[in-house]
This record gives sequence, C-alpha cells and structure tokens, in this order.
Amino acid sequence: MHVDQPYRIVIAGGGTAGWIAAAVLARFLPPSRYEISLVESDAIGTVGVGEATIPQLQLLNAALGLDEFAFMRETQATYKLGIEFVGWGASDSRYIHAFGAVGRQIGQTPFQHFWRRGRDLGETAPLDAYSVNSAAAYAGKFTRAKSHPPQPNDIAHAFHFDASLYARYLGAYAQARGVKRLEGQINAVQTDAQSGHVTSLSLDGDRTLPGDLFIDCTGFRGLLIEGAVGVGYEAWGHWLPCDRALALPCASAPELTPFTRSTAHRAGWQWRIPLQHRIGNGHVYCSSHISDDEAAQVLTSGLDGEALGDPRILKFTTGRRKVFWRGNVVALGLASGFLEPLESTSIHLVQSAVERLLKFLPNGTINAVDVSAYNSQTIFEWERVRDFIILHYHANSRPEPFWRDCATMAVPDSLTEKLELFRANGRISRFNEELFAEPGWLQVMVGQGVIPDGYHPFADNQSPAEVKELLALLRRSVAKQVADMPSHEAFIARHCRAV
Ligand SMILES: Cc1cc2nc3c(=O)[nH]c(=O)nc-3n(C[C@H](O)[C@H](O)[C@H](O)COP(=O)(O)OP(=O)(O)OC[C@H]3O[C@@H](n4cnc5c(N)ncnc54)[C@H](O)[C@@H]3O)c2cc1C
Repeated sequence: MHVDQPYRIVIAGGGTAGWIAAAVLARFLPPSRYEISLVESDAIGTVGVGEATIPQLQLLNAALGLDEFAFMRETQATYKLGIEFVGWGASDSRYIHAFGAVGRQIGQTPFQHFWRRGRDLGETAPLDAYSVNSAAAYAGKFTRAKSHPPQPNDIAHAFHFDASLYARYLGAYAQARGVKRLEGQINAVQTDAQSGHVTSLSLDGDRTLPGDLFIDCTGFRGLLIEGAVGVGYEAWGHWLPCDRALALPCASAPELTPFTRSTAHRAGWQWRIPLQHRIGNGHVYCSSHISDDEAAQVLTSGLDGEALGDPRILKFTTGRRKVFWRGNVVALGLASGFLEPLESTSIHLVQSAVERLLKFLPNGTINAVDVSAYNSQTIFEWERVRDFIILHYHANSRPEPFWRDCATMAVPDSLTEKLELFRANGRISRFNEELFAEPGWLQVMVGQGVIPDGYHPFADNQSPAEVKELLALLRRSVAKQVADMPSHEAFIARHCRAV
C-alpha cells in the first residue's frame, strides 16, 4: 500500500448497514491513509424496519464511544431483555428467550441437568423462573448490570430503537469524523474487464465515484455484489418459507414492556416492538398459505394502539449471497442476504461483518486467502443463525398446514445433530464461535416443547432434597433481584427519556 495515496473505500448505500460501516471505519481507520465516501439516495430511501437488537449492540456503541443514555434519547429506544414467543410450540404455549444466564452451572454441570432432574422430582417451575431477564421482563422491571464486566447472573440487555434515527445518528457521527456523504442515485457500476474489480460508480449529475474497495449496502437489490459482480444467491425458502412481511407502527400502549413479543399466527408470526414514541408491528408470513389481504387483517386486529398509517409490504427470499466478498466488493446488510427478524439478528450480522472486515482489511492489494477466510467465517455465522431460526419453526405442535409442513420438513444436518443431542440427555454443544450460546438454545428447545429424555449423571450426585433446595434457592435469588429493580418505565423516565 502506498502511504502517500489514501486508500479509497466507497460505501454504496446509507441504510443501517451503510452507516454502521461508515461509523466503524471512520472510528478505526486513520483519515490520513483512508478516504471513506458513502453514497445514498433520498429518492430510493431505506427499508425503514429493523428495530430490535441483541446485546452485542452494546459493544458496537461502546467501540464507537457512544453514551448509552444519549443514544437511547436520540433513537427513541427502550430496553430489551429478550423475546416472548406466544403460541410457537403449542398453540397455547408462551415462553421467553431471554438474554443472559438461566440458572447456574454447578461445578462442571450445566444447569439444565438439575432442572431436568427436578422435573422427575415434581419441580414444575419453568425455565423462566431461573432467569433474571425473564422474570424482570414479565414484571416490567429493568436496571442495568452493576458489575463491569457483568457477572454471569447479572441482567443482560439489548435495545429496541427507531432504525432510521439510528442510521441518522451514526451518519452524523461518521461525517463528523471525515466520511464524505454523497446524495444521489447510482446509475451504473464500472468494472475492470481483466480483474472483474469494480473501478467506479456513476452517479446522477454526471458524477463518477472511483474507489479501491467497495462496500455494497444497497439493500435487497445488491447493486454491486449481484448487479455488477453476479455472485449468485443461495435460497433457504425450503427451510424458512415465509417470504413477505407487512409492517405497521401503532400508537404506544400504557405499559412500556422491556421485551419483544413474537406471536405465532396460522401461516407466520407477528412482531411487537415497543419504542418510546410508538410500537413497531409487523406480520411475517408465507404467501402460499395466506393472502396479503388476510395477512393485513391478522396484523391490524392484533395491534395494541391506533394504527399509524397503512401496512407496508416487503417481499423477500430468505438466504444468502453465495459469497459475501468477491474481488473488491464486500456486501453487508440486506445486500448480503436475508434472515427473517425472528431473533433480531440482521443488524448484528452487519456489526460482526464490519468487525471481520477490519480484521481482514486489505493491505493495498486484495489477498485471495483473506477473502476466502472472510467468506468461510461469514458463511459459518449465517448458517448457525439460520439453524437457530429454523428450530423455532420446526419444533412445533400447532395444527395448521403451514406449521405441519414445518414440523415434518427435513432440516439441516447441523440442526438435527443439535436436536438429537439435546433430546437424549439435555446436552448442548456450541460450535466454534456461533452466535447463540447454550442458554439461548436451551430456552428455545424447551419452549418449543423439546424436553430431554435424560440428564447428565452428575445431576444425580446430590440427593433429591438437595436438588429441590438448590432449585428453590435459585428461584428465590432471581425473585429477590427483580423485586429490587425499578420499573422499565421509571428507569427510562429517570435516565433516557427522549425529548
Ligand atoms: C420486515 C423486516 C424486519 C426487520 N426487522 C429487524 C429487526 O428487528 N432487527 C434487525 O436487526 N434487523 C431487522 N431487519 C433487517 C434490517 O432492517 C436491515 O438489516 C437493516 O435495516 C439494514 O438494511 P440495509 O442498510 O442493508 O438496507 P436499506 O435500509 O434498504 O438501505 C439501502 C441503502 O442503499 C441505497 N441505495 C439503494 N439503491 C441505490 C442506488 N441505485 N443509488 C444510490 N443509493 C442506493 C438506499 O438509498 C439506502 O440508503 C428487518 C428487515 C425486514 C425486511
């Protein structure tokens, strides 16, 4: 790399993905050596959804040096302790996939083995009773973890926020650190005939934007990665058959709940995401099982407040680009693929891809082994998240044809292995650095009705009375922790109410 010539990074698209990339690159790359530009089109706009997150977003905000309360005020955010799944396992079931720990590991033995043995001894309390996050969510309580770094049984939080406000917030951050924003439409993408590398973008008004590395954040269209480079798409519709969503915000309800709710319907599910100024709602569904009109009816009849507008339809094919980086084009966000928002993972996948891009940042010329390592790590991450989402659909006992199809479909081998391992003796193995840890798999497996046949023999090391006392102690400790917390509403009013 020639240090006298800045390396030109061009970000195409200014949705959540584009501005996360711009903010992170501006934060970590010295402006004397890197020139970062971002082009976005006001006429095209952004997808305008994407309001629920996972706790890792705290790391992004911290890396950028953002003050959490200022961020909350700027983005109309609320706290999120997990996701409540209503009607997902059986039609009348209800559970929370909460962040943070469930119970406590005893010696080397994970908690679920004691919980499972407890069932044999007549202990009927659900996993929720052993999770600070679940108990606080149901009680409408919130406080931040007191210890840094948080201890295993501390509360763990993520956020619900207005995605457009977050993109604007990061936009101001990035531009203040030297990112050059261009407004306008990309009309054409020039490539080098020999290398296939993108050389420049043509913008309206006869402008040309040349670059060395291009980050495609143009949303579903994938203008560079697909339009210009043509990497191809691997569709996962046979495992995740929902292909449409209707989004419709509504007025706030009296209680500001600190969790996302996901309610299963006859051919899909509905999200409910409480923000400070409104509630985000949407119905994700399978168009071969329900019409758009009926899906809209289901959505509007399940709102907690007055609808703010008409439902907006979004069509998608779940899956991923065959590769995420080819030549000098890296795709992020919706340009890189789509996983439905059931576990609020898309923004996180942007965050972790940008982090990975920094790790593999080209040193002048682009190295094929870097590209290959980047792609295989990203594919691994996407496929594990995909498996976790498939689990919600597959392990169900609902009667409707859509759900029976999901229950009987063949699932990826990697998921079958996880399911069989858990069914046998409650064991959960986390592959490498896959995103969801043991407590997540545990809560969703059990919540969806997958109860292990047995448990680890170490759970028999204690007497029945000792196991019962241990479980009771853990429940009391959770209840006490939650009793001492303020309400979510009061916490926000005190620290981060948007003005
Ligand atoms: C129904 C639904 C619900 C979702 N819910 C969640 C959620 O709860 N949590 C979560 O983490 N994620 C969620 N997501 C995903 C999340 O919305 C996206 O990952 C995130 O918003 C990033 O989008 P993006 O920036 O890739 O694309 P977009 O927001 O579509 O941005 C694309 C950008 O490219 C620009 N552009 C496109 N074409 C051109 C052109 N020719 N010239 C110039 N500029 C151009 C646009 O102007 C825009 O700036 C959801 C997605 C959907 C569809």
